[in-house]
Parts: sequence; structure tokens; C-alpha cells
Amino acid sequence: MDPILLVSPVDPDGSLPRAALEALAAAKALGAPVTAALFGPSVAKAAAALAGTGVAKVLAAEDPALAEPRYATDAAAATALAKAAGASLVVAPATSRMARVMAGVAARLGGRIDTHVTQLVDDGGPTVVRWYYRQRIEAKLRRKERPWVLLVDPGAVPAARAEGGAAPTLERIAVALPAARTTVTGLRAPSSGEQTIKPDAKLLLVAGAGWTKKQPDGAPHPDRAEALILSFLRAAGASLGSSKSLVDQAGEGQKVFEFMTHLNQVGQTGATPRHPKGLSTCCHGEEPHVVGWRFIRERRAVNLDANCGWARGKADVLYVADAFAVMEKVNALLGAK
Ligand SMILES: Cc1cc2nc3c(=O)[nH]c(=O)nc-3n(C[C@H](O)[C@H](O)[C@H](O)COP(=O)(O)OP(=O)(O)OC[C@H]3O[C@@H](n4cnc5c(N)ncnc54)[C@H](O)[C@@H]3O)c2cc1C
Repeated sequence: MDPILLVSPVDPDGSLPRAALEALAAAKALGAPVTAALFGPSVAKAAAALAGTGVAKVLAAEDPALAEPRYATDAAAATALAKAAGASLVVAPATSRMARVMAGVAARLGGRIDTHVTQLVDDGGPTVVRWYYRQRIEAKLRRKERPWVLLVDPGAVPAARAEGGAAPTLERIAVALPAARTTVTGLRAPSSGEQTIKPDAKLLLVAGAGWTKKQPDGAPHPDRAEALILSFLRAAGASLGSSKSLVDQAGEGQKVFEFMTHLNQVGQTGATPRHPKGLSTCCHGEEPHVVGWRFIRERRAVNLDANCGWARGKADVLYVADAFAVMEKVNALLGAK
């Protein structure tokens, strides 16, 4: 089996990103020894977090310029570490930082890259499992070319845990970083309002366009809808997803919730989040939307229409009810807890 190198930057506080521990768990399934390669201003804390996980050695690239995500410096560090390790399989978490540079790193190594990996299996050699066509087809891939760089999607595999054993040895690798032409002056979040996307939340609440439509009394009630959704998100710590119809309304100048952007959209042309449970409200459950629910394990929906898409085998439970009334009651119960 090919020796495996796990490559990851460290978090701003020096800790190891959880996505790196997930990529490690995926890599360990291949049964070959895993060496880690970490980069950042200082990697000692992250390296210590690998104690007992089966990683015997950590290669480190340390430089203050690696504190910030920057293509030139990140790609140089990852390439130098992969070359120093001489690994033929290079596994990395598909965080936005790593997804940006690893294709370039594969090119610099003269190798190949595959992305959106959800599992690694030994199927007569290292084999990648991933989904195509918006999670409609699952495929297994093998490649002859090496080095083979693999980006493992966060949330697909439980993170590796310490199972006892010694702390890995740390070997520092000298990396010649290019002069940085970009300077990070600050961070700007895409949503001006409340942060509603929480990938680690146990529950996904999906809001559909029904929340802004005319209700049985003949009038729309977007302000009440906004208050109900926000109080539920705060009380339940849930993440917020949306249908395309709802987020598209902003482009048409209609009322849309201020805390919602296109980044909340779930579906064929949106995201495929990985929460254990999902609750859909005022959303019809059409296939282009529901295909984004592929990895939501328990699905429930509230819709006035007993004939909506959710009723056709797409939800485990469909409550045929008025979501305004249901969420009012749910929020009252949560508030009483
Ligand atoms: C190429 C393509 C790609 C697409 N990609 C996506 C995608 O990525 N994501 C996506 O979401 N869509 C996508 N769509 C659009 C998708 O087909 C649907 O049009 C969209 O999901 C509908 O959104 P909706 O269910 O919120 O709105 P609607 O279809 O308007 O449904 C609103 C629902 O709210 C219910 N409702 C109203 N009031 C209440 C109430 N008080 N209580 C309970 N229920 C109530 C109604 O019964 C209705 O079922 C795509 C379409 C195409 C053609």
C-alpha cells in the first residue's frame, strides 16, 4: 500500500482543524502508515493533538507568513512538505483553504488530484469513493498516477480519535516561501446580518418560499415569519437552509429575510449539507431542492399541502399543518425548557 501523507494548515489559534482529523480517519481506513505534514506560524499544539491517533511522525513547515491563507505561500509549503515526505498518496481536508491550493500542488508534484472524496477504501489498492451529479451517483475510482492528491469533504467521516500511544515525533522542514504580494487587511463575512450557516449543528432548518406567500387570511406575513425562524434558530442552535425560490426573491426586489443569502441555498444548484436531522418548513420538496438533502439522515417537513414533494417518499415524517402555527408552538416549548 502507498505511504500516506496528511497535509493541513493549523487553525489561527494553533490547533488542528477538525476537518484534518476527519481526513486522517478516512486515510487510516487504507491501513497504511500515515505521516502528517502541518504548516502555520507554529504547529506544536496541532502536532500534540495527533498523539495516540496512530500518526508516528509530523513534518512541520513553520513561518509567520503561513498564518494567513494565501495561494503562493500555502502552495509552496504544501509542495515542499509533500516532496520532503516523498509520499505517493497525499490526503488533505477539503476546506476552502486547502481546496484552493491542492490542485496547484498536485501540478507542482507532477501528480493528479481528485476532489469531493467521501471515503477511502482498500479495494485491491487505494480507492476513492465520491458522488457525481449532485449526489445522485456514487462511484469508486482508482488511479495509476502518483503522487495522487485527495481532498476529503468535511463532514463525511467521523474525526479520528486518540486511542492511546506516543506523541508523534516532530521534524521541521525548511521551506523557501515566495515573497508575499498580498496582505490580509481584515475579514468580511458574506452575510451582513446574523451568521446562520452552522455546518456542525445537529439540525438543519430549511425555510421555503411559502414563508413569504399569501397566507389563509389573504395577506403575507414576512415579519412574523422572520421572527419565528430566527427565534427557532437561536433556541435550537440550528443551521439555516433555504430553497432557491426564497433566496432568489432578493434579486427580484421582493421581501427576503435579511439573515439569508444564496449561501443558504440547499439543492442541485446549492449546497449539500451534512446534518443528522433536517426540518423543512414552507418548502415544496421538489427534486432539485431535495437532492441537496442526500446526507441528511432524518427528514421531517411541515407543509399545508398533503400532496407536496415531501409526501412522495422524500421525508420520513410530513406534518400537514400551518408552519406559522407549528413553529409558534415549537418556539414556546423551546422557550419553556
Ligand atoms: C436547473 C434547476 C436547478 C434548481 N436548483 C435548485 C436548488 O439548488 N435548490 C432549490 O431549492 N431549488 C432549486 N430549483 C428550484 C426548484 O425546482 C423549486 O422551484 C424550488 O425548490 C421551490 O421552492 P419552494 O419549495 O420554497 O417554493 P414553492 O414551490 O413556492 O413552495 C412553497 C411551499 O410552501 C407551502 N406553504 C405555504 N404556506 C405555508 C404554511 N403556512 N405552512 C406550511 N407550508 C406552507 C406551500 O404549500 C408550498 O408547498 C432548481 C430548479 C431548476 C430547474
